[in-house]
Amino acid sequence: MKVIQQPLLIQKELIALKNTGKRIGLIPTMGNLHKGHLSLFQLAQSNCDVLVGSIFVNPMQFGANEDLDKYPRTLENDIKKLTELGVDYLFTPTEEIIYPIGTKTNTSVEVNRLTSRLCGYSRPEHFRGVATVVNILFNILQPDVVVFGKKDYQQYLILSAMVKDLFLPIEIIGGDIVREENGLAMSSRNKFLTEQQKEEASSLRKILLNSAKEIEDGILNFERIKQRAIEQLKRRKFKVDYLEICNKTTLEDANKEDKELLIACAAWLGKPRLLDNIEVSI
Ligand code: AMP
Repeated sequence: MKVIQQPLLIQKELIALKNTGKRIGLIPTMGNLHKGHLSLFQLAQSNCDVLVGSIFVNPMQFGANEDLDKYPRTLENDIKKLTELGVDYLFTPTEEIIYPIGTKTNTSVEVNRLTSRLCGYSRPEHFRGVATVVNILFNILQPDVVVFGKKDYQQYLILSAMVKDLFLPIEIIGGDIVREENGLAMSSRNKFLTEQQKEEASSLRKILLNSAKEIEDGILNFERIKQRAIEQLKRRKFKVDYLEICNKTTLEDANKEDKELLIACAAWLGKPRLLDNIEVSI
């Protein structure tokens, strides 16, 4: 695997490969790779000829009081994992390269719809940071296909909308959530949980599954299902940021006519804010 820090260097190599008809696949990450990330690389592998990863902890998507400094950085280990997987290129730019004048950039990318609810409510600047850096990565690496994880379902939807709205010639694929044995969605932030909290955290998945089952069984009082799930989470010491039952495409509150729903939740357990969701078809 070639590890390259300089944008123009990796761009030149990838464009040369594209010109020979190769299809470039990209997985953007912030590193500290776990099986969830690796599953996205595997999914991309069967959809491209040249597999490219990027590792960049993007300061622009972190709020002032968030965990940018504490975010785990494990580049050597990540390189080992991606090499074993057969990844061809890894792009590892520095903050100075991506944001030469700092994160108050001259240009940023704002997706107007889909961004104000769910995570956008408590993290108002977050998706502008995500959309901006992903655009920068797309422009440097010029991928044909990109895989995003559906663990960050809202992000996957927003970036799919961005690609469509801006006519970017890129195929977006959503990868399923990879979980620990107890059901907890894998995340780089899980390492801030104690062993006991890791066990307790599994109830988030169970509560979402219960809510999904109620809907599948024909109970369509979404507000009551939502309030009951929030109460159950609070009883298990979660501090709930949001739990919403929404239309899977628009992220608006679900109504009784909707057939494809998403139950999405963000909640703190101790230090980390955990994110999970479940797709429900009626
Ligand atoms: P991150 O490094 O957290 O920015 O994540 C990079 C990509 O990996 C994003 O597309 C995430 O949605 C995806 N991802 C993170 N955790 C998981 C997981 N447990 N299962 C599937 N995809 C994941």
